[in-house]
Amino acid sequence: MTIGRSIRFPRPVLFIPVRNNDSVISRATISRIATPAALGDRLREAGAQHWWWHLLAVLAVGALTISATILTIIGDAPVFFVAKGMTTTDIVLFGLIVVFAPVVLAVPVILARLASTVVAGVVVSLVLGGLVAVLVGHFLDGLDQTGEVVLVLSGLVGLLVASLYGLTEPGRSLVRFLSPAPLIVLGLFLFTSPTATLLSSQPVTDVAPPLSGTSEIPVVILVVDEFPLAALVNQSGDFLDLAFPGMGSLVDDGVWYRNAVTNTRSTMHAVPMLATGVFHEANVVPTAGGHPNSFLSALGRTHDVGTVEPMTRLCPARLCEPEEQSNIWAATFSDVGVVAAHIVLPNALAAELPPIDENWANFDGESRPWKSKTPDQASMDEDPRLAFENIGKALETQSRRPLFVFGHAVLPHIPWNFLPDGTRISGGEQAYVDGGQVLEAPWAKALGMQRLLLTAGYVDNQIGELLDGIREAGWYDEAMIVVVSDHGVSFESGHDRRALDDENVDSVAPIPLIVKYPKSMEEAPPPGTVDDIRAESVDLAPTVFDVIGRVSPYEVDGVSLLDTETRSQRTETLVYNWDEKHFYDVALEPSLARAVPFDNLFPDRDPWQLEPLGITESMRRTPERIVDDPDVEFEVRDPERFEDVDLDSEPVPLVVFAEVTGVEAHRPVGVLLNGELAVLTATYQREDIIATGAVLPLGSLQPGKNTIQLVALSESGPARG
Ligand SMILES: [Zn+2]
Repeated sequence: MTIGRSIRFPRPVLFIPVRNNDSVISRATISRIATPAALGDRLREAGAQHWWWHLLAVLAVGALTISATILTIIGDAPVFFVAKGMTTTDIVLFGLIVVFAPVVLAVPVILARLASTVVAGVVVSLVLGGLVAVLVGHFLDGLDQTGEVVLVLSGLVGLLVASLYGLTEPGRSLVRFLSPAPLIVLGLFLFTSPTATLLSSQPVTDVAPPLSGTSEIPVVILVVDEFPLAALVNQSGDFLDLAFPGMGSLVDDGVWYRNAVTNTRSTMHAVPMLATGVFHEANVVPTAGGHPNSFLSALGRTHDVGTVEPMTRLCPARLCEPEEQSNIWAATFSDVGVVAAHIVLPNALAAELPPIDENWANFDGESRPWKSKTPDQASMDEDPRLAFENIGKALETQSRRPLFVFGHAVLPHIPWNFLPDGTRISGGEQAYVDGGQVLEAPWAKALGMQRLLLTAGYVDNQIGELLDGIREAGWYDEAMIVVVSDHGVSFESGHDRRALDDENVDSVAPIPLIVKYPKSMEEAPPPGTVDDIRAESVDLAPTVFDVIGRVSPYEVDGVSLLDTETRSQRTETLVYNWDEKHFYDVALEPSLARAVPFDNLFPDRDPWQLEPLGITESMRRTPERIVDDPDVEFEVRDPERFEDVDLDSEPVPLVVFAEVTGVEAHRPVGVLLNGELAVLTATYQREDIIATGAVLPLGSLQPGKNTIQLVALSESGPARG
């Protein structure tokens, strides 16, 4: 019996029958293909096929490798499409483009065929082998194999596939057999992925009628993203209003719910829970279709509703109309490019890319006559700062009824690329995480906390300006104003920065929640009250209904924050970890304890307070004693950024990162900018290298050429030059 018979495939009915009859690997076949002349013959055979077959082969293997992987990653995150405001047609078109994009890889094959069938045979085999190698490499990367293992194994598999295709008829038959793959991959994406829920019309059930009548109370809800409580409170529980004067002014005028926690750690679920007051399953999409009942739909008749929703589409179409979308496809395919690069590049290189787990989004908006326009979401990923600008516009809208503004900014979310004044600094270096995992090195985390505080300072400035705008417009006193974060973020070594476990829940679940009630409201606690009774995200919507004097028109899971009696009976809080349930105790102390690392490094939360251990008074005072240790070498990443600095173009290169050799971790380092000591930092262990990093103070760069020099500091030795 020959080996081949058992793997012979039923002749595919759909396709041109296999031309060559020897689709069997016999011993004779093996000996025939083993000589150079026979190899040439085989490759010629592979290359001589009709160009149409080459096209089908590349499409089939491309669909099963690159396209399937991209569609699996993106299909798992419907928010990718929601955030861009894509329609059903857009999504189908997107699937078609991704599935048929590998067609470009058939071009070199078809061109080669014009020149020589042997060359065409080589090219098509290598293209197919390469595609499989990429998939294998991506899989091995996922198993955390080293770069060498990934390269060698995926290379070997790729070569094997290339040889099977180029040299054997069964290999080619198999690929022909796979030619319906593009349609199957597309079908799986459109009908079985989580994104499929966007395509099927949502079962809209139990839609409560909107509240009727009028209300006198304007409502403003500002949702920030990934703002951990520990950043703005110290271990004694004081709100650090020196660093956060904007939010601090609201704490003075309102009630700070110090023991507030989110009910889920993921944005696309957290924002809907704030807007609805209802727990929901993980597979419900963050749209008005998925959440027909929310304070947005309920208040549509009592208020003029304006929303800024970079990640969600909760405002029903009858109230909010998307603006003309500007560049959905540019944004979409730039995102797909990042996803594809993550698949193709080994982990080591992919670490440089923007992360693909969180930010799927994009704005730009004009003033909005009713029906209100929701700002174009197609450029939010590039500039999350636009959210504040759009919220500002929504707050300035002239309307007859009181305003209800629900605005979400995906800040201070990683990658922490902004200074307090809004300057975008170069970024992408996730100093404190490796993948999603928080690094062990304390100095790496310190640099991460610094970057968080810098961006958090910007967020607070913006909140302060929005509040000032309301004060100046004269409706601050009568309004209900809320600042809340969707969830926090963790700095626990070795734990995921967001995915919940027993260790990091104390950092991910607690959130800032500040509510300023209308001044005339007698039932509200006095301004400046700190409330330590457990509050939850789902309490926000019931509180809004309570404040405007209405009963929620639909059933909610939360309770009004003013109902302290019911809240004080809570013993634990349900916090969803994506779709699994985590129960979190109501004690406040564990979350305050997470302020200790911040207190140690940034007692006042001034990001520029950061200084590494081991810096002595004389290093600080007499930088001329800095010793340039000749054994220590620093390789500054992207040094060309400092060659010709244009201070007016973003990002401003204020982030320095370097690999260090010849020294251990925890060595103090001075960053000399144009010969002057600009900032003190230290070395730290990052995976298998020693690294260092720093943020240069704003204003330290000069226009044009700047010189950056890093030196290892020590007390002894000859003074530097
Ligand atoms: Zn979030």
